[in-house]
Amino acid sequence: QRVPFIGANWKMYLMPDQVIPYIETIKDQLPSPDQAEVMIAASPLYLWPLLDHAKGSNVIIAAENCDYHDTGAYTGEVSPKALSEMGITYSIAGHSERRHYFDEDPEIVNKKVHALLRNHINPIVCCDETLVRTETDDDVHWVVSQVIAAFKNVDASDAAKMMIAYEPRWAIGTGITASAEEAEEGCALIRQTISSIYSPALADTVRVLYGGSVTPKTVKALMAQPDIDGVLVGSASLDPNEFLKLIHY
Ligand code: 13P
Repeated sequence: QRVPFIGANWKMYLMPDQVIPYIETIKDQLPSPDQAEVMIAASPLYLWPLLDHAKGSNVIIAAENCDYHDTGAYTGEVSPKALSEMGITYSIAGHSERRHYFDEDPEIVNKKVHALLRNHINPIVCCDETLVRTETDDDVHWVVSQVIAAFKNVDASDAAKMMIAYEPRWAIGTGITASAEEAEEGCALIRQTISSIYSPALADTVRVLYGGSVTPKTVKALMAQPDIDGVLVGSASLDPNEFLKLIHY
């Protein structure tokens, strides 16, 4: 049974004075981890204080990105080894904004996946689509090819630790949530792809998420879909009370 997953991706939005009040608002109002897992992915600037304030609560503090080298002379980059030693257990990899604005190609995303797994951090790999939903074979092929590239040289026991998020670029930050049917179609395609790389049994255990303009209004229909195990939320996660509504949909 796949445990529902509700993730916030703060991106580069919140300012230092907002971070601790946010975590203090939500931390005692969370479901138990067997009912739903709740995660906040935040800038590396905030991870240390967040981990500190989240101690003993059911919120998972995660990274939004990291480098694919463990440590070294990579000025300005985030070390996955340091994240791990700080107590981080999840990180997003290959978010659409990273692929789009920072030229992260599927090969780089795969290197990040390996770096995270090597450092005992569970990767949440985001796969996007182009700006407009064209329903062409190319779009479908693009999502599938990103999934295949993300899992390259990842063995089944490591693949089981990963989550994949379907985040069509046309739905991110645009206010256009994919319909529950469109989101289900993308997530089902991702699960089929995992099944053909590994096995139906493994595909059955890996959680597949949807992200793109999810709100407290749209979350319920999305979560009711058979292949959508969770959501990754940007804009609607920036206000702690909105995020609580999403968590308790
Ligand atoms: P929005 O919810 O703002 O569309 O962002 C989604 C997202 O990118 C989650 O990773």
